[in-house]
Amino acid sequence: MKLWTSRSLLLRFVIMPVQCSNCEQKRAVLKRPKTGHSLCKDCFFWAFEEEIHQTITSAGLFNRGETVAIGASGGKDSTVLAHVMKLLNERYDYGLKLLLLSVDEGITGYRDDSLETVKRNQQQYELPLKIVSYEELYGWTMDAIVKQVGLKNNCTFCGVFRRQALDRGAMMLNVDKICTGHNADDVAETVLMNVLRGDIARLRRCTAISTSSEGDGAIPRCKPLKYAYEKEIVLYAYFKKLDYFSTECIYSPNAYRGHARAFLKDLESVRPSAIIDVIHSGETLSVKEGVKMPVQGTCSRCGYISSQALCKSCVLLEGLNRGLPKLGIGKHHRLHGKILAQEPLTEQEERKLKAVDF
Ligand code: SF4
Ligand code: ZN
Repeated sequence: MKLWTSRSLLLRFVIMPVQCSNCEQKRAVLKRPKTGHSLCKDCFFWAFEEEIHQTITSAGLFNRGETVAIGASGGKDSTVLAHVMKLLNERYDYGLKLLLLSVDEGITGYRDDSLETVKRNQQQYELPLKIVSYEELYGWTMDAIVKQVGLKNNCTFCGVFRRQALDRGAMMLNVDKICTGHNADDVAETVLMNVLRGDIARLRRCTAISTSSEGDGAIPRCKPLKYAYEKEIVLYAYFKKLDYFSTECIYSPNAYRGHARAFLKDLESVRPSAIIDVIHSGETLSVKEGVKMPVQGTCSRCGYISSQALCKSCVLLEGLNRGLPKLGIGKHHRLHGKILAQEPLTEQEERKLKAVDF
C-alpha cells in the first residue's frame, strides 16, 4: 500500500526556484497537490488552515461554548487536526473547550508508542487528555484478540470496538461533540468500499460531515478535515514540524481498504481531482424509494445504538468470550435471542462458528 510520506512528497513537489503565486514575494516551497498553486510555506499554511475554517463554518460544525473531544491517535491526521483546531479556536474565537481523547487498543509495539506521541501532544497543545483502553472496556486487548482470531478479521473487531470506545470515552468526559481526523482520501476510500460492497446504508452516511444529534443518544461526530488531502496533511505536518507517529499498525492487513486505496491512488495519478470527485459522487447519490434501510434502535445488552437486538460490539465480544470468533463476522442475527438468554448453541451452530479460518 502506498503511503504518502513527507519525503516522497517533497521529492515530488519541493525546491522549485519559483515565486509564491499568492504573495509574489517569497520563494515557493511546494506545489499544492489540491490546486496546483506554487506557494511559499506561510501562504500554504494560511490556505490549508483557512480551508478547514471554511469547512467548519459552512457546515456549522460547532457552537460556541461546546466541549469537543478530538480523537487523537498520535498519527499525522489527528495531530494536524489537534493543532489546527487549537489554532482556529484561538484565531477565530470559536469559544470551544477542546480535549484529546485516545483509544488504547492494546497493540504492543504500536499503540503504546503512538500514545507516547499523544502524551507529548498533550503537553505541546496544553489540552487535557483521556485514554480509554479495550482492556478496561471489553476485557480484551487487540494482542489477545489477534491470538484468538488470527490476522484476517482483526480489523473488524478493532474498528467496531474503537467506534464504541470513542463514544464511551466521550460520554465519560461529558463532551458535546467528537471530531476525528478522517481526511478526504479516507472518505473517498470509504465511498468506494461501500459501493463495492453494495452497502447502501453506510454509503448514505459515510460522506456526511457530521452525524446528526437527533435524539439517538449518540454523541455527534464530525470530520473537519473531510476536504483536506492526505498529501497536504503530510506536507503541513512536515513543514510545521509537528510531532507525530508514522509507523503502521503491526496487525494491518485491512486488505479491502488497501485495494480501495490503491485503486484511488491509480485514479488520482491520471485524474488529480479523483478524490474530491468520488466524495462529490457519494454526497449526491440518492437512494431510490422502497429500498429498505436499517432502523436504528438500541442494543438490549449495553444500550449502544444498534439496528439489531444486539450491537455489533456485544456480538463480537460474546464470540470472543465463548471462543466462537466467527459469531460477529457475517450475519448471525437469528442467534441474538439465544445469546441474550445465555442459552447454549446447538452443536452444529458451535461447529460453524468455531473455525478461525473465516
Ligand atoms: Fe486496529 Fe486494524 Fe487499525 Fe491495527 S490496522 S489499529 S488492528 S483497525
Ligand atoms: Zn451492545
